[in-house]
Amino acid sequence: MVWLQRPRTSGVLLLLALSAAAVAAASCKHAAAPYIDVTVPVRAGMPIWESPRGLPKHWRTLHLQLADGDEVNQSWLNLDAHTGTHIDAPAHFLKGGSAIEDLDLDVLIGEVLVVEVPGGSNITGGSNITAEVLQQLALPADVQRVMLKTDNTEKGLMAQRAFASNYTALDSTAAAHITGSSSIKLVGIDYLSIGMLEDIGETHRTLFKGGVVVIEGLDLSQVQRGWYHQMCLPAKLAGSDGAPVRCVLQQLVTVKHTEL
Ligand SMILES: [Zn+2]
Repeated sequence: MVWLQRPRTSGVLLLLALSAAAVAAASCKHAAAPYIDVTVPVRAGMPIWESPRGLPKHWRTLHLQLADGDEVNQSWLNLDAHTGTHIDAPAHFLKGGSAIEDLDLDVLIGEVLVVEVPGGSNITGGSNITAEVLQQLALPADVQRVMLKTDNTEKGLMAQRAFASNYTALDSTAAAHITGSSSIKLVGIDYLSIGMLEDIGETHRTLFKGGVVVIEGLDLSQVQRGWYHQMCLPAKLAGSDGAPVRCVLQQLVTVKHTEL
């Protein structure tokens, strides 16, 4: 498999990541590539872990209401820290592991490669991603962030109410490959767990011990494979094992030098 060339400055082409910072640095007035929101909206009925009914209606309740004569609408939130698109902190699986506010901003923001992953078959009838599958992807040796677009997206699992136990995810051999044989510091996936159900603990522990940040529940339906600038910032919930994240991508594009 051949990956799109990562945009780079060379020859007559200035290859530019059209982030706001890059545009400012180049004094370029070109419109930035549009943001692609890869965050699933938090709403009643969205899929949550092992529930057939999805997120209950009372995930948000108004404790003050304009309709009742209060001066404001104001809500209580009642939801799992791992709801929807979210980031896991090492404390999710490791005793004494760091919490969500300790994650490195330099990892959460930066260049990411979105890859489409062919699946095999696992024991629940879905696909899993093994070390062998990752090797076949032939990812660039220096890639630091990867988002895995799997058949979870094709099946629309993040849009279905009922939890799908046959989701596609990494097994522990893939996790060991990432931590042992790659430069990857962040991995994202398009359903509620980075680890396949049968291997979930080992997969997470291996990634967290290896210092890899995990993003789960991404909506990659509008994203093609290729290079993007990623901004994924979780709510700063002190001490938490996870947090909802707003995650957006901006395609890295090539701009002719003469256009600048
Ligand atoms: Zn999680």
